[in-house]
Amino acid sequence: MSTPQATDAQKQYLQALLDKGLLFETGVDGLYGRSEVFERVVQKFDALVSKYGGKDGAEVLRFPPAIARKSFEQSEYLKSFPQLAGTIHSFMGNEKDHQALLAHVEKGEDWMGGQKPTDVVMTPAACYPTYPLMAKRGPFPKDGRLLDVQSYCFRHEPSLDPARMQLFRMREYIRMGSPEQVMAFREQWLERGKQLMGSLGVPLNIDVANDPFFGRAGKMLAVNQRDQGLKFELLIPITSVEKPTACLSFNYHQDHFGLLWPLRTHDGKVAHTACVGFGLERVALALFKHHGLDVSAWPAPVKKELEL
Ligand code: AMP
Ligand code: ZN
Repeated sequence: MSTPQATDAQKQYLQALLDKGLLFETGVDGLYGRSEVFERVVQKFDALVSKYGGKDGAEVLRFPPAIARKSFEQSEYLKSFPQLAGTIHSFMGNEKDHQALLAHVEKGEDWMGGQKPTDVVMTPAACYPTYPLMAKRGPFPKDGRLLDVQSYCFRHEPSLDPARMQLFRMREYIRMGSPEQVMAFREQWLERGKQLMGSLGVPLNIDVANDPFFGRAGKMLAVNQRDQGLKFELLIPITSVEKPTACLSFNYHQDHFGLLWPLRTHDGKVAHTACVGFGLERVALALFKHHGLDVSAWPAPVKKELEL
């Protein structure tokens, strides 16, 4: 279940991005600074997503990149992806403990032993903070709920593949309601996603997919997810034609989150949920790969579409 080794092509692309000054190193694989140009591409793409989805009347919500530990526990994320989760710890000791902490640091020893868990956990996917919030609001209106979120997300999967970051942004639309409402949403976004990415001049295909569920039991969950067609991805070759990279995801959770929180439709039924997620850094990396590291030299129609 460990993060796959980066290929030479992935390492070379990372180096090219660093050399060009689009990303900045921090000393940790998968944790990078972003340049002004990189950010402009991310923001323009984010705005293009809004152009496609903005007319649907989604409620716009923005959360910091962390969620309440209680909500995180309730989400059962730890059942499926314990290897990816990031918890936030802090020093909570007295002065004596502080002296001990500094002594450990000074000697280059492990100083993390005394750190205590806070009530805060890193957000693993942008939709996670919305479920407890929507549960708290009670039964949905008749046409369910439609939400628009964007957040940095954390996943502990350090890698030299620039498309596999530990902290990256996910833009999502989330639909909650009857199975029919939720399926219609996913169908609509499968089409829109193709159209949107196609307009940016990148090769793409859509395929059924599975999440990296942990352990032996996780293998079964992954097979099940595929067999039922619960997850699709829009793939774009970035550093490999044979193994293209998932840049958009289309997830149907059935009643999984509806039962957990609980979420109820207007007529008291367990709600179904689905989300479409755009990996903002991955899309930017796909655009830089296909159109070049110099944005001013990108094809005119792509620049026009992104208003760059
Ligand atoms: P997922 O919840 O795994 O389907 O992720 C949603 C989207 O986030 C994916 O389609 C990717 O575009 C993006 N994504 C997932 N993991 C990473 C990562 N480690 N680094 C950058 N982007 C990611
Ligand atoms: Zn989601």
